[in-house]
Amino acid sequence: MAEQKRSAYDPQSVERKWQQRWEERGTNRADVAGAAHPFFNLMMFPYPSAEGLHVGNVFAFVGADIQGRYQRLAGHDVFEPLGFDAFGIHSENYALKVGTHPAELIPRNIERFRTQLKRIGLMADWRYEVQTTDPRYYRWTQWIFLQLFRAGLAVKRRAAVNWCPACKTVLANEQVIGGYCERHPDVKVEQRMLDQWFFTITKYAAPLLDNLATADWSHSTKTIQANWIGRSEGAELIFETPGGRRIPVFTTRPDTVFGATYLVLAPEHPLVADLTTAECRADVNAYRRRVAAMDLVSRKSVEKAKTGVFTGSFARNPAAGTTVPIWIADYVLMEYGTGAIMAVPGHDQRDFEFAVQMKLPIVRVVAGKGQDAATPLAAAEPDVPDGRLVNSPGFDGRPWEEAKRAITAALAAKGLAKPVTNYRLHDWCISRQRYWGPPIPIIYCDDCGTVPVPERDLPVVLPALEDFRPDDSGISPLARAESWYRVPCPKCGKRARRETDVSDTFLDSAWYFLRYPSADRDDVPFDAGLTARWLPVASYIGGNEHAVLHLMYSRFITMALKDLGHLGFAEPFARFRAHGTIVKDGAKMSKSRGNVVNPDQYVEEWGADTFRMYLMFLGPYQEGGDFRDAGISGIRRFLDKAWQLVDAVAAGPQSPTPNPPSPDLVRMMHRTVQRVTRDTASLDYNTAIAAMMEYVNALRDGVPTRELLDPLAVLLAPYAPHFAEECWERLGHSTSVMDAGLPAFDPELAVADEVEFVVQVNGKVRGRLRLARGTGQEAAVKAALADPAVKKFTDGNQPRKVVFVADRLVNIVV
Ligand SMILES: [Zn+2]
Ligand SMILES: [Zn+2]
Repeated sequence: MAEQKRSAYDPQSVERKWQQRWEERGTNRADVAGAAHPFFNLMMFPYPSAEGLHVGNVFAFVGADIQGRYQRLAGHDVFEPLGFDAFGIHSENYALKVGTHPAELIPRNIERFRTQLKRIGLMADWRYEVQTTDPRYYRWTQWIFLQLFRAGLAVKRRAAVNWCPACKTVLANEQVIGGYCERHPDVKVEQRMLDQWFFTITKYAAPLLDNLATADWSHSTKTIQANWIGRSEGAELIFETPGGRRIPVFTTRPDTVFGATYLVLAPEHPLVADLTTAECRADVNAYRRRVAAMDLVSRKSVEKAKTGVFTGSFARNPAAGTTVPIWIADYVLMEYGTGAIMAVPGHDQRDFEFAVQMKLPIVRVVAGKGQDAATPLAAAEPDVPDGRLVNSPGFDGRPWEEAKRAITAALAAKGLAKPVTNYRLHDWCISRQRYWGPPIPIIYCDDCGTVPVPERDLPVVLPALEDFRPDDSGISPLARAESWYRVPCPKCGKRARRETDVSDTFLDSAWYFLRYPSADRDDVPFDAGLTARWLPVASYIGGNEHAVLHLMYSRFITMALKDLGHLGFAEPFARFRAHGTIVKDGAKMSKSRGNVVNPDQYVEEWGADTFRMYLMFLGPYQEGGDFRDAGISGIRRFLDKAWQLVDAVAAGPQSPTPNPPSPDLVRMMHRTVQRVTRDTASLDYNTAIAAMMEYVNALRDGVPTRELLDPLAVLLAPYAPHFAEECWERLGHSTSVMDAGLPAFDPELAVADEVEFVVQVNGKVRGRLRLARGTGQEAAVKAALADPAVKKFTDGNQPRKVVFVADRLVNIVV
């Protein structure tokens, strides 16, 4: 083929040419108004940091783009919009650090991100870009707040919150790491009482959890979210004081009530002041002050030493009839259950430690095999296999699961219990005492109280504020802009005052997917017809770091808007897949480790297509892989080889093909089409690439023809779109390869000549592979190494030695 080598593959010129042509021809534009087979391909929109696109972003976007392009080839009208999530504390803190106003900084960052995103060849329809910082967008974020406010789902209440004295703002529990701020590892987080706006997401806890069961989502994502919602079935039991006060406690183990030897209330519990006796008051007050200064996360820590004080009061165990002391302790929180627990030290580890320390009685009420009522407890026994009740008059000998219901029913008959379902999920605090966010559209009037801003007055535009620094007051910087917050009351016209808190960034991103198809509309947040056409989102790909906040908030907002009559569906994302993580040298990329990969330099050196394919070849897309410079030249060699094949055929006679292609190659073509389409559909991009590599090697060993290369160009299009377009054109086509449709394959031809290889690692069978009969050693080893089952055992190591038996066995020694 040497004499046919007419041109070398030059990625830079190919990519420049096709990006320009896509723009001119509108190749990436979806028919948003009229699409017959709509497919909404969503990727998590980036927060435009000053550093520019991170290689992790590129990995995520390219994997999603491949899916979008594949679905288009499969016959869908694919809509692949992008936008920028640029409000929030990260942008604001960075702006403070560099001394530039965020209103100036953000557009620059966005510009840079957009350029980078275009450079990697996404099929994005930029006509529908959204920016959460644009008043045209956040007008509708405020509109959503108003809908929820009217429905009673947005409420203001005083609550204990985590406060970082350095950030000077409220932190979510997830932002507190071991008692310290995630952004300020030396700054201890405090607890403060502040008036905050909450969305009552807990009202939706049951559907949020139940719908997961049937959702087509990554299993890992569903598990994280289900644990976060944390449903527990149990009962509320009533402990009465001699003075007639009823103290409800929530427990998941009502069967152990006979072993409840004391009560513990949260120090903030409203009954504490009344229950505390004169002798105990000084100790109780001192303890409550100490706890008030603690952050909520360390209070929940299991490891820390138990502390607490006695209130001096007692209550009656509703089942045993015994009198038990009432304590307060920091490990009980107001936000869980009723803010009070019955302590069962025999069968709960925290209660056990507390009882030992405070010298409180410990009683066994469940006994397993070989145990009886008198078997001593050396530690708490929370789960007793085949346990039956003991020391529980009236219920002794019953299996504990059955006793749960029996005891609840018996106490319920006396008005001392009711079955209750409890959730770990908390309401969503959306107030931020910061500057860079959409103002919450509320006005306070002395006469009318809390008045929503009329919808016709939206957006409430964030005022330009020279000094936007937060201070330690717990009051938003907007409270300094008197000319902005002084407004007439919309109801009575008297002097009133705007809410000066802005809303959480997570609210901006909780509905952006609804906005995309209607991004060019100013009269509605989302058009009903367009929404019905495009939503729910057909495919959403993103990171599991967003499993609980973003993904849950989006589901909540969608459910709420559906219940309020604005949407026809409750679940926003029909399919969600979590992508894996790229590490460098086995470690997570981070600035402090100095192992962050800047994608720009790779795109510049190798071209976007090689870089895209390289990232996808690092490992299974849903698991991720280790970024090594060494591998990228292998991808480039593959593209060079494919280029030469196309070049040779393109230079030959146009038609008819001189000789029919060899039957072996035809079979392999069918098999390759089958494997690549199947693997691309299931996001197994690395094995799809391996199949294309095998095919290219086989074509080089035979006589390539146009009918063998046309399908290759199409299969490559999702992975290396510019390259595929150029090949397609050279093969004599005048339309975009993206409009070619998936090549068909004959399943019989595709499977006819496959054989099963046994794959061994260090002599042990670790997997089986179906490969073409006659597959060579190199291709077989490559396929074996790419197999997830085998990968676990080779651990990414290159083989030291290979034993190869044609059509039967690959043994890799590492
Ligand atoms: Zn901080
Ligand atoms: Zn008023």
